[in-house]
Amino acid sequence: MRELSEIDIRTSFMNCSKGEAFRIMVPVGLEHLDWERRDYLGWQDPKAPQRAYLVTWRGDEPVGIVLRRADPVASRARFQMCSLCQTPQPADSVALFVAPRSGDAGRNGNTIGTYLCVGLNCSAHVRVEPPVSEIQPDPSAVVASKIEGLLNRLDGFLAKVDSV
Ligand SMILES: [Zn+2]
Repeated sequence: MRELSEIDIRTSFMNCSKGEAFRIMVPVGLEHLDWERRDYLGWQDPKAPQRAYLVTWRGDEPVGIVLRRADPVASRARFQMCSLCQTPQPADSVALFVAPRSGDAGRNGNTIGTYLCVGLNCSAHVRVEPPVSEIQPDPSAVVASKIEGLLNRLDGFLAKVDSV
């Protein structure tokens, strides 16, 4: 993805107030991140671990959303699937995150929930190359199609949050 600056990030949030966006703890060292190997920037709030942020590009516009991690529900499932990268993982590595919708809908309590990797590290998961096999002779093609799938699902998720 294209690099994001702190200004890009602060002006990107579609589902929180300007004041709130100004107070968000933006990761330090943005210029040292490996942007080539990311499809979005995601991080947890160091002061409030239930809060998380996800920022990406929609064309030339940076778009970001504020997420809240829902309390875990007791479940006997050993594996869970992240809805963005669709990687099955140990159940505690995936959690339900809730995003207020943008605009009036969100202010009225309307939210969109989705299961995401707790570490918001889908980009790393989709880049794990499968071993070469008869059905998957080209691991890099598998990775390319997983990245495309992640980007499509991310776009769909952002569109659902964006109620304006
Ligand atoms: Zn994921």
